[in-house]
Amino acid sequence: MSDMRQLYQEVILEHNKKPRNFGVLEGATCSAHGHNPLCGDNYTVYVRLEGEQIAQVGFEGEGCAISKASASMMTTRLKGLEVAAAQELVELFRGMILGEVDPEAHPKALKHLKVFQGVSALPVRIKCALLPWHAVKAALDGRGEASTEGEADPVGEGEGSARS
Ligand code: ZN
Repeated sequence: MSDMRQLYQEVILEHNKKPRNFGVLEGATCSAHGHNPLCGDNYTVYVRLEGEQIAQVGFEGEGCAISKASASMMTTRLKGLEVAAAQELVELFRGMILGEVDPEAHPKALKHLKVFQGVSALPVRIKCALLPWHAVKAALDGRGEASTEGEADPVGEGEGSARS
């Protein structure tokens, strides 16, 4: 487990320092805003759909290292997926973070996202890791604002920022 923890630290730090697909996505077909008031994480996630396929994902905003690394890795992982597969992955990731899904059972789907498994032992960080995923789900569902649906306190609040 210590190897995993070290990998987790390295991956989080690296993505936090150099977030992938950071910035407003040109030509986005949908987007959603997510805010985690407990930590101050505040992001807008953009998706460019081509038919049923996710051509590109981007995000902008600010927050802690875990939320930013989670958003960064999410963008690289979702690119190229069909919408249905992306939504399945959102559920899988959420399940892993909540400790309900064993990542070892889904190695092909989760891949390197597995490093976030350790977050499930850190309740105050769960919302940080999930925020970008809630936002992308809201974007794909056509909602401008992310909500946490059952993850205790509501995450979404404040102004909507739906773009089309
Ligand atoms: Zn956070």
